[in-house]
Amino acid sequence: MKGKKLTIFGIAVLVAALAVFYQLYTDSVNEDFKNISRTETYRMADHYTGQYHRPGCPKLQQAYGGGKRFESASAAEQEGYSACKRCDAAGPDEPEES
Ligand SMILES: [Zn+2]
Repeated sequence: MKGKKLTIFGIAVLVAALAVFYQLYTDSVNEDFKNISRTETYRMADHYTGQYHRPGCPKLQQAYGGGKRFESASAAEQEGYSACKRCDAAGPDEPEES
C-alpha cells in the first residue's frame, strides 16, 4: 500500500514538472515568433531541410551555415524550396506603415 501511494505521488510530481517545462517551452517559442519579420520581402532558405523562411524565423536559426538568401518567396520556390509553415514564408508581406 505504501509503495503504491509513493508511485502515485511520483507520477503527480512528474506531471507537474512536465506542465511547468511545457509552459516555459511554449513561452520561449512564442517569444521567438515575435522576432519574425513580415515587413522584409526576402527569404532565407535552408538547404538541409529544403525549406525557406522569413528572416527571424526560429527554425532558420538552426539552419546549417545560415541559409541561402532569395529576394522573394517565389524565387525560393523556383529553386525547389518549400515554404515553412511556422513563419508563413509563402504568405503575403506586410510593408511597414509610414
Ligand atoms: Zn520558418
